[in-house]
Amino acid sequence: MDKPDPLCYPSWAMGNPSRGKSRTPGWFGPYGGRFVPETLIEPLRELEAAYAAARRDAGFRAALDEELRTYVGRPTPLTFAGRLSDATGLRVWLKREDLTHTGAHKINNTVGQVLLARRMGKKRVIAETGAGQHGVATAAAAARFGLPCAVYMGVEDMARQAPNVGRMKFLGAEVVPVTSGSRTLKDATSEALRAWSASSRDTFYVLGSALGPHPYPSMVRDFQSVIGREARAQILKAAGRLPREVVACVGGGSNSIGIFTAFLKDRAVRLTGVEAGGEGVRSGKHAARFSGGKPGVLHGTLTYLLQDDDGQVLPTHSISAGLDYPAVGPEHAELRRTGRARYVSATDDEALRAAREIGRLEGILPALESAHAVAYILREKRRIGRGALVIVNLSGRGDKDLATLLR
Ligand SMILES: *Cc1c(COP(=O)(O)O)cnc(C)c1O
Repeated sequence: MDKPDPLCYPSWAMGNPSRGKSRTPGWFGPYGGRFVPETLIEPLRELEAAYAAARRDAGFRAALDEELRTYVGRPTPLTFAGRLSDATGLRVWLKREDLTHTGAHKINNTVGQVLLARRMGKKRVIAETGAGQHGVATAAAAARFGLPCAVYMGVEDMARQAPNVGRMKFLGAEVVPVTSGSRTLKDATSEALRAWSASSRDTFYVLGSALGPHPYPSMVRDFQSVIGREARAQILKAAGRLPREVVACVGGGSNSIGIFTAFLKDRAVRLTGVEAGGEGVRSGKHAARFSGGKPGVLHGTLTYLLQDDDGQVLPTHSISAGLDYPAVGPEHAELRRTGRARYVSATDDEALRAAREIGRLEGILPALESAHAVAYILREKRRIGRGALVIVNLSGRGDKDLATLLR
């Protein structure tokens, strides 16, 4: 029999290969790993090796940088929010991922993964999507590199997010309706993983957040970490010092890990992730995995998960589709365990109010996801401290949410 793959099992089941440290690839302390059926082990190993080689290849890095600059629109600005600063007594800077092509940070990752797919000689790409932002960003990158694209989407989400279905189709992607389970992102992800295991020889699976089996959480973090690298250099140039706090909303955790990573070693910089509090954590209608969840396995990774006492995944609720997912990226679970980052939540109502504030004060229509991060600074301004320098990651623009905002 083959040696068991240390990535497939939790560290305690394996005689603790990481000895409690985060050094085993694919593990973030006790979280992460590769909990998948056997048919996916080989494709994941192939992906891991190809990504490791691409990372070392100066040609790949140069091609990615060029795409980020000339197609995605990087670097994105760091904008001083003067009136929001006056209103809160803070000094607030906004990292403007809403200004990227397709309107959210998702494109940083899809351009990276589709470039990798092409380098691996894959003939087509597939993806999952909930709100449709990742589907649109994947469809755009696939079109640009001439690869056919199929996006799995729950029929519930297809109805709720019809404009994004139209965008994906316009960009040449096939949208595959998913009718199983709750017919939302969780089911679309299961279906995409199934489809990948049946077609991995010629198909690349573009996963949309810092989630899933190794190497996805690390690879997606790397592709998104450009956000934090830029923001750190920009704040040093503009303000001459590091911020007191960096704030980002947390769905699967990719925009937040993308901005946190550059500041991890700056111990004085507080890192705060904001989850979807929905109708309040006590109502049970939310997606606050760190308040209401406990460790478990979903879609190939061991992490904080909303589940019942039998380990059944619980339904989630958020006004923002992009935060409406029952699990959180495993690296966040570890950042929380070590105390390096803190996780709080903001409710639907707080996010709506924050979106309105930032519209009126700064002339920016934010995604409802991003509005959760703004809601936190509005609520906690006194505790953050008068005059404190704060960076808020504005993960996306809110055109897609306009109907909800006007209601
Ligand atoms: C998808 C999305 C999110 C949530 O995903 P993360 O992986 O947690 O970043 C947040 N904001 C916007 C605008 C999104 O499209």
